[in-house]
Amino acid sequence: MPAGWLLEGWFRLTIAGVDIPKNMAKVGLDRSKSAEAERLVSAGRADDEDAFELKLRPTRLAEFIGQEKAKEQLAIALEAAKSRGEALDHVLLFGPPGLGKTTLATIIANELGVGFQQTSGPALQIQGDLTAILTNLRERQVLFLDEIHRLQHVLEEKLYTALEDYKLDIMIGTGPSARTHVMEIKPFTFVGATTRPGMLSSPLRGRFGILLRLEFYTDDELRFVVERSAEVMGVPIDRDGAAEIAMRSRGTPRIANRLLRRVRDYAQVRAQGVIDRPVAQAALAMLEVDAHGFDELDRRLLRTIIEKYDGGPVGLNTLAAALAEEQDALEEVYEPFLIQIGFLDRTPRGRVATRLAYEHLGIEMPRKTSLF
Ligand code: ADP
Repeated sequence: MPAGWLLEGWFRLTIAGVDIPKNMAKVGLDRSKSAEAERLVSAGRADDEDAFELKLRPTRLAEFIGQEKAKEQLAIALEAAKSRGEALDHVLLFGPPGLGKTTLATIIANELGVGFQQTSGPALQIQGDLTAILTNLRERQVLFLDEIHRLQHVLEEKLYTALEDYKLDIMIGTGPSARTHVMEIKPFTFVGATTRPGMLSSPLRGRFGILLRLEFYTDDELRFVVERSAEVMGVPIDRDGAAEIAMRSRGTPRIANRLLRRVRDYAQVRAQGVIDRPVAQAALAMLEVDAHGFDELDRRLLRTIIEKYDGGPVGLNTLAAALAEEQDALEEVYEPFLIQIGFLDRTPRGRVATRLAYEHLGIEMPRKTSLF
């Protein structure tokens, strides 16, 4: 069965060029995700970005910038697996969106010189889908499953024996004559990616031999990402121009690449195509991306906590309702960076705006009065 057909034709209906997810229950979530992805500084993947991202994606470990700890761990495991001629241990990649989980999964396949197949938790709907994918695997190939925390429980259980012993229980027939047949599958490397590692069950987590946490990138690392991408795109950029874009990219290569694309357009029309610091600053000011890479939504989120809830704590669901945003999107996409740079605190009683948030918005922080 051709893999392309399996992954695309089976899961989606295409009507007049518009992709309609087959499972209507997921539509609400998909719609909110794509609305979220329309934000210029969202770390989520936008619908029209696939081809652009593919072009900029590093293909070898040596080209992958930053994440030194994860890279070192992976390099050793790859070397060992290659020298033994075995499939690499299963890998779990976790961290906020846009930090390079999919990129690393493809790099793993490239470094091992094996095939690569990709699907995702929400795309897998029925047992037959998973069975077909697993039984069609080639020796030692990489199977990448994005958003693994959204995999249905029955499918997750089916994966256990496949991951553990490369065996699959298949039901043949129905009713009293039904029989279980154990099928051997080829040794393979399973790479799971998630933004929510805490949502994985412990039996599933226990089946990964290599756990790699991806962190937000430093400004310097992001400057390298911007310079590398500019080179691939053939855009002239100087060091300061790249640094300016990097600084406003929320520690996220996906955002850095997206901002670079928009700044390039501005430079072409207004500055003979060359990006330096003043050009980058003017373009980003026009796009309303501020010095921290915040846009209207970040400011609204912090302002809501401060003005409506006295700086917090406020529960996630209350905050989501006040902002008319999905809880998942708040937790997975918006909050991690605000927490990382110290503008937001996640406490057991809810979200709290910090002193830095007050300062950034130019609001005076009330003194906390204590009775003791
Ligand atoms: P995720 O799967 O974590 O959401 P991706 O792997 O799709 O993120 O990465 C998003 C984009 O960012 C990719 O197109 C790639 O070009 C770029 N990117 C991610 N990590 C790096 C890196 N370490 N070096 C260079 N580019 C990167």
